[in-house]
Amino acid sequence: MPYPKTVGVLALQGDSSNHLAVLAELGVEGVAVRTPGDLGKVDALVLPGGESTAISLLLASSGLLGPLRSRLAAGMPALGTCAGMILLAREVVDGRADQVHLDALDVVVRRNAFGRQVDSFEADLRVRGIDGAPLHAVFIRAPIVESAGEEVEVLASLPGTDGVERPVVCSEGPVIAAAFHPELTGDARLHRLFLERAAG
Ligand code: GLN
Repeated sequence: MPYPKTVGVLALQGDSSNHLAVLAELGVEGVAVRTPGDLGKVDALVLPGGESTAISLLLASSGLLGPLRSRLAAGMPALGTCAGMILLAREVVDGRADQVHLDALDVVVRRNAFGRQVDSFEADLRVRGIDGAPLHAVFIRAPIVESAGEEVEVLASLPGTDGVERPVVCSEGPVIAAAFHPELTGDARLHRLFLERAAG
C-alpha cells in the first residue's frame, strides 16, 4: 500500500516546519494545518511538540477541535510527538484544568515528567518496529506514559525519575505517540514507521 497522499502537520504553535521537512524527505506532500478547511485536505496528521496548553487554546479558537476529534474518532492516522503525545492522550496528569485531550490513544500521560527545561536530555532508544541502530531521541520537557490500556502497544520505554520503566513510544491502531522530538535529529525512521502503518 502506498503512503497516505497528503499528510498534515498541525501548525498552531510549536515545531511544525521540521516535521514538514522530514515528510518532504520521505516524498510525501506535507500541508500545514491551521483551519478546519486545511484538515479536510489531509489523509493523516502529525501533531508536533510545543506547548500542549497553548495548542489546546488554539485548537478551540481556530475551530479545529471538533473536526479534529471527529477525524481521529473515524480512524485518521496520527503521529503525536511530545506535546502532540499529550494532546492525543485519554487523560493528562499535571495539565491545566482546561487543557484538551483528544482521546485518540488510551493512555494517561504525565506532563513534564522528567523535570524542568534544564532537565531535557538525549537518549538512544530501541523502538519496536525500527530496525538497525537505536534511535537517537531528544527529550525536551517531555511527558511520560503513566499507564496504558490493553489495546496500546508499547514500542519503547525509559526509566522515569523514580527509576521505573515507563512507555515513551506507544501506538494504538493508526495512532503513534512519542515523548521526544523525532524531527530534530535527521533520522526519518519514526515518521517512516508512521507512514507505513498509516498505509495499512
Ligand atoms: N512540556 C510541554 C507540554 O506540556 C511539551 C514539551 C515539548 O513538546 N517539547 O506541552
